[in-house]
Amino acid sequence: MNQDTKVAIVTGASRGIGAEIARRLAKDGYAVAVNYSGSVAKAEAVVAEIVAAGGRAFPVQADVADAGAVESLFQATFERFGRLDAVVNNAGVMPMTRIADADLDAFDRVIATNLRGSYIVLAQAARHVAPGGRIVAFSSSVIAKSFPGYGAYIASKAGVEGLVHVLANELRGRNITVNAVAPGPVATELFLEGKSAEQIAQLGMLAPLERLGQPADIAAVVSFLLGADGGWVNSQVLRANGGFA
Ligand code: NDP
Repeated sequence: MNQDTKVAIVTGASRGIGAEIARRLAKDGYAVAVNYSGSVAKAEAVVAEIVAAGGRAFPVQADVADAGAVESLFQATFERFGRLDAVVNNAGVMPMTRIADADLDAFDRVIATNLRGSYIVLAQAARHVAPGGRIVAFSSSVIAKSFPGYGAYIASKAGVEGLVHVLANELRGRNITVNAVAPGPVATELFLEGKSAEQIAQLGMLAPLERLGQPADIAAVVSFLLGADGGWVNSQVLRANGGFA
């Protein structure tokens, strides 16, 4: 590998937004660790697509809520590519449950993946990203809506936003930016699953731009944050949502 090739880890890159981020960063010139939890065939397909287009990538299984597995993900990336310039913690889940249902299994699952997972991945990123590097976590624009059923999910993402601001301060002096991207509704399994065609159409019309986001819309924002032009953006939550505010 060329000594100047930058290296990124993208968590949850087997499907949806993460897969598109991996493809986009590979196009931007990054060598990419394509992390997944269960979808091995999909992760391998993303890697094959990147390699066929002349890029560099490899698949790595790790549950982001498992500290040992995440440590192995970072080690595997160093073994494969020899350096680390950027970490994008995109992995997330969104079980819908109303607070009155007190579904603690759903609550624990969303907190484990979205909040504990972010904490674990950000911790490894803080230890290993090179000077001049970039760290991006994932929140959601739905925080501003407080829709019924989103309590556990919104709680997890509010926590992520808090972590991002603290980590940006903790990395003072290392020339590393730490930001969150907070998409509005994006047409992926996470958003579409369990919704009627009518609900999807309604949610798609909430933004003044009158459409659902596509994974490429969000990958472009991550590309900006990881690119030369994003270098002065630090400790921000970038709400990429077509105006769904
Ligand atoms: P998808 O459900 O389409 O994809 C989720 C990805 O995360 C998959 O690659 C999945 O891997 C991975 N994943 C899930 N759990 C874990 C885990 N424990 N460890 C590692 N990987 C895991 O989701 P989206 O692409 O829509 O969402 C991506 C991010 O964007 C999430 O953080 C989400 O909260 C956020 N977001 C999405 C919005 C939307 O409308 N789609 C809106 C706002 C924010 P596998 O397939 O192997 O299970």
